[in-house]
Amino acid sequence: MSKIVSLCKRRGFIFPSSEIYGGFGSCYDFGPLGVEMKNNIKKIWWDEMIKNYENMIGMDAAILMNPQVWQASGHLTAGFVDELVECKSCHKRFRADEIKSKNCLDCGGGLTEPKKFNLMMKTFVGSVEDEAAVTYLRPETCQGIYVNFENVLNSMRMKIPLGIAQIGKAFRNEITPKDFIYRTREFEQMEMQWFCHPKEAAKWFDYWKTERLKWYLNSGIKKENIRIKEIEKSQLPHYAKRVIDIEYKFSFGWKEIEGVHNRGDWDLSNHSKYSGKDLRYYNEETKERYFPYIIETSGGVDRSFFAFLYDAYQEVEGGRTKTTESTKEREILLKLDKKIAPIKVAVLPLVRNKPELVKKAKEVYQLLKPHFMCQYDELGSIGRRYRRQDEIATIFCLTVDFESLEQDDLTIRNRDTMKQERVKTKELISILKEKLTNN
Ligand code: ATP
Repeated sequence: MSKIVSLCKRRGFIFPSSEIYGGFGSCYDFGPLGVEMKNNIKKIWWDEMIKNYENMIGMDAAILMNPQVWQASGHLTAGFVDELVECKSCHKRFRADEIKSKNCLDCGGGLTEPKKFNLMMKTFVGSVEDEAAVTYLRPETCQGIYVNFENVLNSMRMKIPLGIAQIGKAFRNEITPKDFIYRTREFEQMEMQWFCHPKEAAKWFDYWKTERLKWYLNSGIKKENIRIKEIEKSQLPHYAKRVIDIEYKFSFGWKEIEGVHNRGDWDLSNHSKYSGKDLRYYNEETKERYFPYIIETSGGVDRSFFAFLYDAYQEVEGGRTKTTESTKEREILLKLDKKIAPIKVAVLPLVRNKPELVKKAKEVYQLLKPHFMCQYDELGSIGRRYRRQDEIATIFCLTVDFESLEQDDLTIRNRDTMKQERVKTKELISILKEKLTNN
């Protein structure tokens, strides 16, 4: 874990938020490489959902919603609470289900009885800060989909079964945020809500469970590091009839990165009750009117980001690049899937004290830049520069050498095999496009 955290900071994936002021409450900022990688994860999820499945559309709801939404969803009443105990002397709080000791872990003081603590973040809307102006930063993105169910049905003229996909920020005032970006107070979710006939819910649950596991495997996660855990009936959240967690094997244990939930008709029936709008679906052919059941796939962008990093991180003993500096050191290789890697291509002049090489390399960089996420690097020995690129998962390194000047070609080095081949400059774009899209 500490190695990954340090790589993230050193190479511009993730920085502590407001770091110059000492950071802030377990919030993190995604740096130049982090934002590319995160966008890639969101893009492959979005493309998979919207393009690969029938009857699937997307939307993007507001973070702030009418507070009645949170009454109807149960967040203000039944469900969204953690039980906490508080230290009687230093007032530090701990999750009751996590603390094994009867005393404060910090100062040893006695603890109170467990008290309920709502995880929603409160805010005020408008110019007067009174109770009427209170609303919440959404603790989950899915409610924005449920309250728009009718709008989507009508505007898109769709029939059930249908899915609505969404990616967006959610906020939870977690008591014990920890494990880097695994548990934070501000995070992103990629959620899909599948509306189906109640009699078909069990079938669709199994279908989506398999599909979601497949997505992680197809995106490069190793089979031995991912598993499905069935949640026992007694542990189910208030809205759910069945839940499985997709878990990743982090160094701090098997942990949930996504949940698949059969939410029954909890959401639509409650929103009908609270809003007074009949959200039942009418099947014109069978003349049946009913509340669809919802199968939800709810993944964390940040948690899958973390799992992809964990899975890709390798240290190679003795060095791969065979430069004098590297042979004794361990080299870091980040073997991210090519769809997820932030930088696809690096352009490197063999040496930087030959202006002709630098000029040619810069021309190649300008040529490729509109097509691929590229980096240009001329600092240090070529071996060191390969290592720097391996460390951030760059798929191909292109080296401009003396032969390039005569032949108008360059070498392409493959990150994983380290094999190099010569390619004509004029064929570069099509060859790289092919290599980056084919499996
Ligand atoms: P946990 O039990 O770990 O708190 P949860 O069961 O409350 O998670 P869900 O409400 O099912 O999580 O949320 C769906 C997904 O959203 C999770 O699988 C996770 O990927 C992501 N998520 C939830 N809470 C956080 C958080 N505090 N930080 C980062 N991601 C989160």
